[in-house]
Amino acid sequence: MSDCIFCKIIAGEIPSKKIYEDDHVLAFHDINPIAPVHALVIPKKHIQSVLHIGADDGEIVHKIHLAIQEVAKALGVAEEGFRVITNTGAHGQQTVFHIHYHVIGGRQLHWEM
Ligand code: IMP
Repeated sequence: MSDCIFCKIIAGEIPSKKIYEDDHVLAFHDINPIAPVHALVIPKKHIQSVLHIGADDGEIVHKIHLAIQEVAKALGVAEEGFRVITNTGAHGQQTVFHIHYHVIGGRQLHWEM
């Protein structure tokens, strides 16, 4: 999608601090971190949100989860733990409409919203 900021990051048109990449997935540091570790894991295929994952996207969903494992290990939070969040739609406060998985950690997290 030409107007999608994450598609532009995938294409290298916007710089990012890359953590992990494979054929299906890119992971990079969030530009506005809310914790010592805050990465974003995204599919290279433009998928708007959780609601737009299709029956043919199983390999991508699997690869995203494997990439999350790699990111957690690379950023040193696999042992202590971390959180994975996918904001969806207006009430979920999704602001970028290319599905992304926030990987957040590096400090004790709490559940208050
Ligand atoms: P959302 O609010 O769940 O849609 O999350 C979008 C995330 O993308 C936010 O945490 C932003 O800080 C992050 N973000 C937006 N633009 C960029 C960028 O150019 N590089 C890295 N992260 C970005």
